[in-house]
Amino acid sequence: MKTHILGFPRIGAQRELKFALERYWRSDLSEDVLNAEARRLCETHWQIQKTKGLSYVTTGDFSLYDHVLDTLQMFGMVPKRFASLEKDSLRRYFAMARGDQSTGIPAMEMSKWFNTNYHFIVPEIEKGMTLSLGKSVVIEQTREAHAKGYLPKAVLLGPMTLLALAKGTDEVSPWEKLDELLPLYEAVISELAKYCEWIQIDEPCLVDDLSCEAIANFPRVYDRLNQCANVKLMLTTYFDTLDDHLALAIASPCAGLHIDLILGKYNLRQLLDQFPPEKVISLGVVDGRNIWRNDYAKSLRWIQEALMNRPATNVLIGSSCSLLHSPFDLDLETKLDPAIRTTMAFALQKCEEVVFLGGDPDLIVASAEFRENQDIIDAKSFAPGIYNRTVRDRVKSIRPSLMERDSVFAVRKEAQKYLGLPLFPTTTIGSFPQTPQIRNARKDYKHGALSAHDYQTFIQGEIQKNVKIQTDLGLDVFVHGEPERNDMVEYFGEQLNGFCFSANGWVQSYGSRCVKPPIIYGDVKRVAPMTVEWISYAQSLTDHPMKGMLTGPVTILCWSFVRDDLPREDVCKQIAFAIRDEVHDLEEAGIKIIQIDEAAISEGMPIKARDKEAYLKWAVEAFKLASCGVKDTTQIHTHMCYSEFNTIIEAIAQMDADSISIESSRSKMELLNIFKFFHYPNDIGPGVYDIHSPRIPSEDEIFELLTLALNRVPAEQLWVNPDCGLKTRKWEEVIPSLQNMVAATRKLRDTQK
Ligand code: GLN
Ligand code: ZN
Repeated sequence: MKTHILGFPRIGAQRELKFALERYWRSDLSEDVLNAEARRLCETHWQIQKTKGLSYVTTGDFSLYDHVLDTLQMFGMVPKRFASLEKDSLRRYFAMARGDQSTGIPAMEMSKWFNTNYHFIVPEIEKGMTLSLGKSVVIEQTREAHAKGYLPKAVLLGPMTLLALAKGTDEVSPWEKLDELLPLYEAVISELAKYCEWIQIDEPCLVDDLSCEAIANFPRVYDRLNQCANVKLMLTTYFDTLDDHLALAIASPCAGLHIDLILGKYNLRQLLDQFPPEKVISLGVVDGRNIWRNDYAKSLRWIQEALMNRPATNVLIGSSCSLLHSPFDLDLETKLDPAIRTTMAFALQKCEEVVFLGGDPDLIVASAEFRENQDIIDAKSFAPGIYNRTVRDRVKSIRPSLMERDSVFAVRKEAQKYLGLPLFPTTTIGSFPQTPQIRNARKDYKHGALSAHDYQTFIQGEIQKNVKIQTDLGLDVFVHGEPERNDMVEYFGEQLNGFCFSANGWVQSYGSRCVKPPIIYGDVKRVAPMTVEWISYAQSLTDHPMKGMLTGPVTILCWSFVRDDLPREDVCKQIAFAIRDEVHDLEEAGIKIIQIDEAAISEGMPIKARDKEAYLKWAVEAFKLASCGVKDTTQIHTHMCYSEFNTIIEAIAQMDADSISIESSRSKMELLNIFKFFHYPNDIGPGVYDIHSPRIPSEDEIFELLTLALNRVPAEQLWVNPDCGLKTRKWEEVIPSLQNMVAATRKLRDTQK
């Protein structure tokens, strides 16, 4: 059988792309060198795919920033505000992603790619926008791969998904653009057909709840795209099951269909019976989103099912989704416990697994490799550190009373008046800029080059600086600035039982930003307080309330690679107990405000509407389990990086945090529109400073955002804060931005007198 992967990680084994991008943005690297580095990475990745033995190398998956942004560039879907910047220039490209500093043109919106932690640039369709072909990354890469002797399989983001993800401005429906878009797709497909046998056309929106426009137009769109050139289209779906849209997919004239057998709950036999045997089914059997070794026996059962139904030439073996979401190479991990390490596979190993599974099933079953795989899978649940009786019992014995505060919000609000906060209290989300000195100190401490005592002195010094800065700025509720944290999840994972860490397991989150998700392999237990020492120290320096800063259970779960032998709900509740114990200790230490970040609650959300309720129920329960053990006088905050929360607003209200901060500046407070229909009962701080961009928002701009917010949120409920933490920003940007934020707030307070 032929084999392929849906996409390869872009960032490079040593995060070369990240460092090149950041140097380019600092003007330390020329455009030519950046492009050369990008081409070198592409070629390295093709080389790997070829050497591992995959039938095709994937092209068009590599991107300098984001593949959706590349698609917008290719079709000229560029909002008017970027018109002054040269067409197809790198400057315009990055301006769309990050805003343009010298002209002050704001960036486009970013959103999470389905239920992953990868962020894409949200297409904006404006009135009167005319589309035209521009620089095409996929054509360039495909030509180059072909010229270098590889067999490319190009990836295109399909038109239905592109438009389904787009937002229309000025009341325009993105679907109005469909007919203008199709000839452009045809042109690109015709060009790619010169180099490819297959084009992978990604339509993950098919596993989502589709709009009527999408359903109505799908057949004619795919009829057209299949006629335009002599090339086979692989209609590619992932992240869930096709369900209601299976019929659409099967009826399309595409030569192949890719399904995700890891996250999709398919009845494969039924599907195969309906899918014409002369077409190619691509089986996504190797998990592109997790780090666990493939269970060969399980994969083989699917493969044999397919082979009973059609010739091997019509079965393709693949990764479930792009390996973009998977770290690079397990061989770089020399420090992991070998017992746990053998249960894992990263992108390179996943390529090998795909190739292995493409072999003759009879030979596979007879092979030593297969037997070894079964032994590892069987031994997994018995490895040391996996099972903890006390933890399991605690989760089993959860009672509703553990998940409720003593009093309702109104009563708590009274009880919290002693905090003496002004109208429109100002605060920040937690982290302050992480300078090279801070990163070096943490690194030195980790490697033993800095003693525990010197490290403590250093971090305390940083906290002192942060307190001084906040005092000078005139903020109301302080944070310690999180200098001791490399990452909001890793920091906690490192102190909890059941977690382990890779040294190089980076995955791209957005642009140059990568995360190294912790790995949850066993039962989770807190061993000792995790934050109390730093927060108490910070509080000792000021009379302003100092927020205790914790990461919530759902976020820890969503941003980790999670074991696959226990339901996610159970893992989440184990984490919730660990956080609950920390909350308790912070309160005991005299901390009056505790923020429990649930930045990722929307990411864990299943794609399909019908699965959402069950997820939200246990996610809310986990948050409340973590947060409800406190007195009425203790103020609980939460924070969410999310700009599309209409669907979860009720769940957010049920979380019953005393105050919530949310991302909203890029979307101009649009998310508050829901408050026309839904009365959000507690306090809320819609972000007024876009921290994803280096741009400094002016006082007027922030004032305007706050005024917009006041249209929807009663004054006594409104907090003022940035969209998110400031750790990726520079002090030169942060100080003036926060000064403007405080000034705008004071101006607003004056209007209320
Ligand atoms: N407290 C975290 C910070 O400020 C929150 C980050 C986040 O929401 N992603 O960095
Ligand atoms: Zn955030």
